[in-house]
Amino acid sequence: MTSRAQPGRVRDATGTHVPQNVVIVGGGFAGVALAQRLERLLPKHIEIVVLSTENHLVFTPMLPEVVGRTVSPLQIVVAGRQLTRRARWLEARVVRIDREHDTAHYLRSDGSPDSLRYVQLVLACGTVANLDEIPGLRSRAYALKTIVDAIIIGNDVIGNFEAAATEPDAESRARLLTTVVIGGGFSGVELAGHLIDLMRSTHRLYSELQHEQPRVVLLHQGADLLPELADCALSEIALVKLRANGVEVRLQTAAESANARSIRVSTGERIETGLIAYTAGTDTHPLIKGLGLTLTKGRLDAGPDMRVLGTENLWALGDCARVPNAHDGRICPATAQFAVQQALQLADNLARVARHAATKSFSFRSRGMIASIGDRDAVAKVYGVKLSGFGAWCLWRGVYLAKLPTLSRKLEVAASWICSIPFATNIAQLRLSPTRPAIETSAADVAAPVKLGPRAG
Ligand SMILES: Cc1cc2nc3c(=O)[nH]c(=O)nc-3n(C[C@H](O)[C@H](O)[C@H](O)COP(=O)(O)OP(=O)(O)OC[C@H]3O[C@@H](n4cnc5c(N)ncnc54)[C@H](O)[C@@H]3O)c2cc1C
Repeated sequence: MTSRAQPGRVRDATGTHVPQNVVIVGGGFAGVALAQRLERLLPKHIEIVVLSTENHLVFTPMLPEVVGRTVSPLQIVVAGRQLTRRARWLEARVVRIDREHDTAHYLRSDGSPDSLRYVQLVLACGTVANLDEIPGLRSRAYALKTIVDAIIIGNDVIGNFEAAATEPDAESRARLLTTVVIGGGFSGVELAGHLIDLMRSTHRLYSELQHEQPRVVLLHQGADLLPELADCALSEIALVKLRANGVEVRLQTAAESANARSIRVSTGERIETGLIAYTAGTDTHPLIKGLGLTLTKGRLDAGPDMRVLGTENLWALGDCARVPNAHDGRICPATAQFAVQQALQLADNLARVARHAATKSFSFRSRGMIASIGDRDAVAKVYGVKLSGFGAWCLWRGVYLAKLPTLSRKLEVAASWICSIPFATNIAQLRLSPTRPAIETSAADVAAPVKLGPRAG
């Protein structure tokens, strides 16, 4: 990345001098941690640019909390420009990488096309939700990937209570009060736990619905919940506790098709439901597919130093990449914990490339994982030690608070948690969902003329 001819510039393949830069595609866990570290390690004349579809980082592990209304959406997002200092953060959707001309083509936020030359390009664009695996799911279900998904799921659950309160038909009421979660991995289990808590606290406020029971049904294709933990005993504990908290867990049960009112599962059962949330599958990002490079299990093959195999100046990390871990010789799991650790090593490697030094392999020992399962309960495996119950839940909250970026967000979230102890959940329904537009009142709807009060006239 250095050029003796012009400091701060480097010759490209055609001999033209171009500015030295590192362009990062994606402002998630991997992209942000990388930009922050590069700011410290790279000399000032090497520009750092983040191209991301959003202007903010989403702290995804707390999305289920947004659904459950224990924290507010803005408390778990931080603008990229407030997380970085000298890196340029541009809101842009990268649509194509021209590897021959080292150019990233992107769409600006108004949809107009633009492009940027790169010297080193890092792909950290994550994955996309795969709602097309199951017929009928795309038009019916919500994935839980973005902050908007989390707001809409919480809103629609409460909207279903509102609809049920004015619904004369008992079967339709039961359907509206049934929420189905597909996927018994971390996000599915946490979502189901937060949903049952939300639905139970909402239910108390609907006197019209006291004869109905809100239901959360969790469908999981495998035999054990939380396969990420690879621990049968903890999976069993999570199963028992979720069921005790009222979640109907169906193991070895796959969703087969969905329509406007119900979902059909592999046991032949049809579950009538008012809302489906899908956490089971992800797909390769279209940008990664379009590169024409080797993919294994949908992830871009990277070397031990995170350089994409068969390339010189392309690097990949996080969920989109298949990075080997020198610590245990295994492929890194798609978790935020690994994405951040990879970012630290990759920043070091890019700084090494800049001074013509040899790169190093990624090596990291996982600290473990914690999943909250609702009702102030959690299961965890931390450095091999198994934990569950209220203590594990307190640890879960402590860890997330520590990891949440910026002091202001930490304080806001801590205040929300404290307020949720004495105060009831805020069940205000905002009409944001595309399937639930605002109720319009037309002249024909009004049976009797409205009598205006004295001050209005
Ligand atoms: C509900 C949920 C709960 C989770 N809980 C945990 C947990 O408890 N612990 C844990 O370790 N992991 C957890 N994860 C997984 C974790 O979120 C991911 O592993 C992590 O986000 C991966 O980081 P990343 O930077 O690779 O991708 P992401 O965080 O997904 O970031 C991708 C970035 O790329 C941007 N982008 C996408 N397309 C483009 C494009 N075309 N052009 C420009 N930018 C683009 C996006 O806007 C985003 O900023 C959870 C995930 C979910 C969904």
